[in-house]
Amino acid sequence: MHNKYRKFIDEKEAPTIDKVVEQFSFRISTHMLNQIDKNNQNDPIAKQFIPSIQELNVTPEERADPIGDELYSPVNGIVHRYPDRCLLTPVHVCPVYCRFCFRKEKVGHSSATLTKEALEAAFDYIKQHKEIWEVIITGGDPFILKPVTIQTLIQRLDEIEHVETIRFHTRVPVVEPHRITETMISALKCNKPVYVVLHCNHPAEFTNEAKAACAALVDAGIPMLSQTILLKDINNNIETLSELMRCFIRNRIKPYYLHQGDLAKGTSHFRTSIAEGQALMKQLRGRFSGICQPTYVLDIPGGYGKTPIGPNYLSLEVEGRCQVEDFQGNIHTYPPEM
Ligand SMILES: *Cc1c(COP(=O)(O)O)cnc(C)c1O
Ligand code: SF4
Repeated sequence: MHNKYRKFIDEKEAPTIDKVVEQFSFRISTHMLNQIDKNNQNDPIAKQFIPSIQELNVTPEERADPIGDELYSPVNGIVHRYPDRCLLTPVHVCPVYCRFCFRKEKVGHSSATLTKEALEAAFDYIKQHKEIWEVIITGGDPFILKPVTIQTLIQRLDEIEHVETIRFHTRVPVVEPHRITETMISALKCNKPVYVVLHCNHPAEFTNEAKAACAALVDAGIPMLSQTILLKDINNNIETLSELMRCFIRNRIKPYYLHQGDLAKGTSHFRTSIAEGQALMKQLRGRFSGICQPTYVLDIPGGYGKTPIGPNYLSLEVEGRCQVEDFQGNIHTYPPEM
């Protein structure tokens, strides 16, 4: 049935892996499938999308709703945690299912696509909440929707005066770049700023097709930002991470977030320690251009939101003075002593 992953897994593990995908959806786009090097045991694309028996290993701290979205969902399809912005999740399907997804128990159920009525209720909620300055369309992957549907979503938000910014979070430009057609680009046109945040975790995802898709978006005047999940044995080394940040900049995408892996069920084999993430951030700073620096963030379990967890360079102030560390690790007093 799922013969797309069969050729990448150990025959003996197949029955177990068939069980994994009953619990956590499997899907990979043809474009991503074609990038996998079958002879590379550590292929960064295969690691992200091919299911493994390790997903059955659920640790005690892992949970179904790792970042507490449900606590902040006033109506179906809306997550309103921060005062000035909310998420709108019209779909729960994606062209690929990342094995580490923080919504891995939710994605893949097309029945969770918002009905017309639910979508109206979501728009009503946004209309009634005048403090909502930005709407972030996410999912699932919203760019899996037909351009005409995207255009309608944008038009509806354009009509709401207090919504000044529209943001999409998507993986489509890298995982299924041919969806970024001229029709899609025109569907994204709006009088209000439309930002696109690209989820990408490894330089190998920047194929020529992906580069062309990103260029088409940026050429159309759409600012792009990036988000990356720190993933063990995929991008948790300075060579890969710095190259990924440079790939973003080369493609006119500003690095935005580097996420600490969320506590989604069966994802411990992907998680690194926060100390490791901080050490990588220290290596990025100073040695790589300032525009290559993402913010390292943790989404606090329980719905408390994202918080920066990068390394600290400044000591507490004592008698008006503190100690500050430079990028080479040397300590200085500030203000300097006379
Ligand atoms: C991540 C997230 C956002 C966006 O946060 P930014 O820091 O503005 O990128 C908004 N709402 C919710 C519920 C989120 O989880
Ligand atoms: S594309 Fe995003 S929402 Fe979809 S499976 Fe990957 S991380 Fe999850």
